[in-house]
Amino acid sequence: MPSLLDHPVESLPGIGPTTGAQLRQRGYATVGDLLWLLPRGYDDQRRPTPIHALRDGEYAVVEGVVREAHSFPRGGRVGFDARIEDDGAPAGQDGYRELKLVWFAAIPGLGRRFSEGTRVRVAGRVQEYRGTATIAHPESLSAEAPGAIVPRYPEVPGVRRKALRKAIRAAVDRAASAVPDLIPPGLRAELGVEPLGQALRAIHVPDPVAFDADPEAPPPGYRRLALEELVLWELALRLRRASEKGGRAERFAAGPVTAASEAFPFELTPAQRNAVSEVSRALDSESPMKRLLQGDVGCGKTAVALVACAQVAGGKAQSVFLAPTELLAEQHGETLRPTADELGLRLGLFTGTLSKGERRSMLDRMATGAVDIVVGTHALLSGEVRFANLGLVIIDEQHRFGVAQRLRLGTRGATRRPHLLVMTATPIPRSLALVLYAGLDLTTIDAKPPGRVPSITKMVSRNDRAKVFRQIERALEADGRAFVVCPAISESDEMVTVEETFAEMCAHFGERRVGQVHGRLSSDARREAMRGFAAGEQQVLVGTTVLEVGVDIPDANIIVVEQAERFGLAQLHQLRGRVGRAGQKSACLLTFGEPLTEEAEARLQALCDCDDGFRLAERDLELRGAGHLFGYRQSGASGLQFANLIEDRALLGRAADLVDRIVAADPTLDLPDHAPARAAVDRWERAAAVREDAG
Ligand code: ADP
Ligand code: MG
Repeated sequence: MPSLLDHPVESLPGIGPTTGAQLRQRGYATVGDLLWLLPRGYDDQRRPTPIHALRDGEYAVVEGVVREAHSFPRGGRVGFDARIEDDGAPAGQDGYRELKLVWFAAIPGLGRRFSEGTRVRVAGRVQEYRGTATIAHPESLSAEAPGAIVPRYPEVPGVRRKALRKAIRAAVDRAASAVPDLIPPGLRAELGVEPLGQALRAIHVPDPVAFDADPEAPPPGYRRLALEELVLWELALRLRRASEKGGRAERFAAGPVTAASEAFPFELTPAQRNAVSEVSRALDSESPMKRLLQGDVGCGKTAVALVACAQVAGGKAQSVFLAPTELLAEQHGETLRPTADELGLRLGLFTGTLSKGERRSMLDRMATGAVDIVVGTHALLSGEVRFANLGLVIIDEQHRFGVAQRLRLGTRGATRRPHLLVMTATPIPRSLALVLYAGLDLTTIDAKPPGRVPSITKMVSRNDRAKVFRQIERALEADGRAFVVCPAISESDEMVTVEETFAEMCAHFGERRVGQVHGRLSSDARREAMRGFAAGEQQVLVGTTVLEVGVDIPDANIIVVEQAERFGLAQLHQLRGRVGRAGQKSACLLTFGEPLTEEAEARLQALCDCDDGFRLAERDLELRGAGHLFGYRQSGASGLQFANLIEDRALLGRAADLVDRIVAADPTLDLPDHAPARAAVDRWERAAAVREDAG
């Protein structure tokens, strides 16, 4: 039976094909989806503020009489403005005497509604402009109806505020009670947990009494959403752990570790040595290692991984080194090869772009044990791949890797399980890692190789291209290389593209000096671009976030991230890690489109102020919630992002208790009461398995 939640958004009042399309584009296709379009705050439209008492920057409802109104031409469109005054303004007051209303693109009917002498009621954020209080694009309210506390929804382009509010309100009235709960009714009743739909309703339809008590406080409904989110996390991790239990691994003696540690052109740092010995000990055990190796970008995780491969090869077993992109797999192959050769380890590459013959031959070598280390991409997860004796799986930068995929490879076939080492450059506080990566042990590399100077990070408006060019020129004069990262490849109205930026850079620096790299190029073209850039034939490389992880070009000394506000903090820190790797001075320019939201500004500012990946990760958690740490985000509407694992420990404890109860009653979630939980966990697993495409 199709649920009320599944009805199309167009079934809601005021949503026609055009506005419906806009909503769908944003991921809000159904009535149920819309319930998850949550307000950022609330505006109080109950009490008008007299004009003289208006304050710059504050939201207000204003009543007044139109004194003057006209339309004006503006960039091919028609704008409209009107001046209103208090009805019989008290004389001798300080403050504004009038309020200006302005529409930069006029809406039909404005002239009539705002004709001179009419009493009007409007609402919006007041901004002082040249000494005059102004509201741009005010909301026009009925002068008679009593005002209300209205939710302030995120803007959906092409959908008017009022229409959106009305549609969501209708969605709440029709369908909130149909929202499925993870927590079964019996347990909810016993523990006094309100239904999820009720919490959603309270968020969309705020209670005036609670609002008046503290207008800034988020409604209590949000805590309920956070609990729901945490229950899902806990439940999904718990089920996964249960399915992973058991199994034995081969023991690998630590013999080869000393020689391997000395095979690098550098000396391992104490932090690396410590990591090597923790990993080495874990490999010398029958219980399969499941370990997270974390460390800030550039701290030298790769060397630790290679030593582990050497230890495993010493026991005549094979290691797999999984990279998130082809570019990275190839690069890892190249950087690992000299040391692998030195140690007499046979290294092979397995990606999706091998020729048929190469592929055959690699499959063969893997299956017969004629290769010790295989570096590759998710192509390695294909069913054809067989190993003679797989001893160790290393996953690099797993935040771009589906967790489920990771497990499939770890557990398939064989009676003995391979050891597992997951490497991540998204450092998180230890206490948090234990929760998030439940089931993984933790090794942390907490210091970088000596001689690194932090890059200087600055924010630059997208409007100031001269500054960007100047900085790049300066970096190139120091024999450097410049990365320019864009959020999109081509054809985007909203996003800066590689295509346009490539053209821009060519025009400024000359075509011969600029290269480009992104996921839509053939792998040959990509390789050639990387080679040319590494060799210094091109000095500017424009690309997407394929550059984010691991790309190692020692000469690179500046990175420009276009529209940095569109990237996450962890991602930006990663990108910044691409420069200054040889210890030289380096810079990171974060260009931003204006206006910048407060949250985005806080994020970018954090990067300018701080170079420590762990501290940034904490900041990121504060700003955005934990879901992002996994690079996992459910599509549009159902992406729950309400819990903050740093602040919500108590709630997490509560979630864990709830999950204990659920799992104790029904370990596999087969009972009808647990159907919503089952569905949510499956969705969670699917989302986790979706590999983020590397541009
Ligand atoms: P990440 O932890 O980000 O994966 P990498 O393993 O790519 O870091 O190492 C970053 C760079 O530092 C590489 O160029 C590597 O050769 C170099 N490196 C690693 N360990 C050391 C060390 N102990 N001393 C000097 N350079 C090192
Ligand atoms: Mg790396």
